[in-house]
Amino acid sequence: MKLSNEEIYRYSRHLIMPEVGLEGQQKLKDASILLIGAGGLGSPLGLYLTAAGIGRIGIVDFDVVDFTNLQRQVIHGTEDVGKPKLESAKATLKSVNPSVEIEGHEVAFTSDNAMEIAKNYDIIIDGTDNFPTRYLTNDVSVLLGKPNVYGSIFRFDGQASVFDAKRGPCYRCLYPEPPPPGMVPSCAEGGVLGVLPGIIGVIQATEAIKLILGKGEPLIGKLLLYDALSMSFTELKLKKDPNCPICGENPTITELIDYQQFCGIQDEPVIETAEDVQLTVEELKAKLDNGDDFVLIDVREPHEWDICQIEGAQLMPLSSFAEHLNQLNSAQEVVLHCHRGVRSMRALQFLHQAGFRKLKNLAGGIDDWAVKIEPDMPRYAT
Ligand code: ZN
Repeated sequence: MKLSNEEIYRYSRHLIMPEVGLEGQQKLKDASILLIGAGGLGSPLGLYLTAAGIGRIGIVDFDVVDFTNLQRQVIHGTEDVGKPKLESAKATLKSVNPSVEIEGHEVAFTSDNAMEIAKNYDIIIDGTDNFPTRYLTNDVSVLLGKPNVYGSIFRFDGQASVFDAKRGPCYRCLYPEPPPPGMVPSCAEGGVLGVLPGIIGVIQATEAIKLILGKGEPLIGKLLLYDALSMSFTELKLKKDPNCPICGENPTITELIDYQQFCGIQDEPVIETAEDVQLTVEELKAKLDNGDDFVLIDVREPHEWDICQIEGAQLMPLSSFAEHLNQLNSAQEVVLHCHRGVRSMRALQFLHQAGFRKLKNLAGGIDDWAVKIEPDMPRYAT
């Protein structure tokens, strides 16, 4: 559809640029982009691409806005907490630019639906935060022959690139294998500076717009690394891998696979002991009040310990747990706790393998303790 007079006026600052002009703005209006995720990266991506006048934007997300998202996911507001991210993002984007068509896909992006969803868009933008979806997004893009505008963030560091297998390497050329599960912490585990997705997301949006306009040099064959602490950008040259399993000369991946399995993701291990190892916060409170003989070990990290502690607990972070094992006595009962009870279960498994038998895990962790036993205790989210 041709630009209306109102749109011509709206995009004035684009139209007076020779690199965009009326022709370029029409290309933006005729273009369609699929955003995977309406979170940290999806927020600036959605806002700027909508403002810039991309004709049709699809968003895949089935998450709900959480209070802890607001530190960086600027497409959502405080009143949106508890609402589906898609609903909240759509409302914001419609107010930014009502002429842009926003299509919501309120599903998990999986091998079953990814091809069907992605085939209807010109460009795919990866705004995900997990390896299975990242490999899936890459493979879908390669199989459909569409560019994948990639970005990732962690703490103070960001990366961006354009993977277009027709013209350069893909994500698998750069990272053929995913890291072992648990080796690379997610933003939920390791944190992320709130402004970082703003910078990386806007770089992705810029690359997408350049691809549509056919102007400038896209980040094809280049990995842009950003370090917020030193405020520096570094560019690495990437080569297409002739042996790449999906975009190489003899591809072995010709259809989508099971990405959870590929990334080695399994359910949490289950302890093989007959006894029930879980202890409720009420039971722990009673044990402490009775003066029972046991040691309470907090396996969280020191920066979490600084936020809140259960009185009487000793800090023994999971990251250096093995080094401090000699401080524990297997004759004494050991109660382990962490933030929500998952990491302490791993520590419990570890101790069980080391021969400890008098073990308990605090179900729900210090977070449940804060809710039920000590309501004044500060809570935090991971
Ligand atoms: Zn490749």
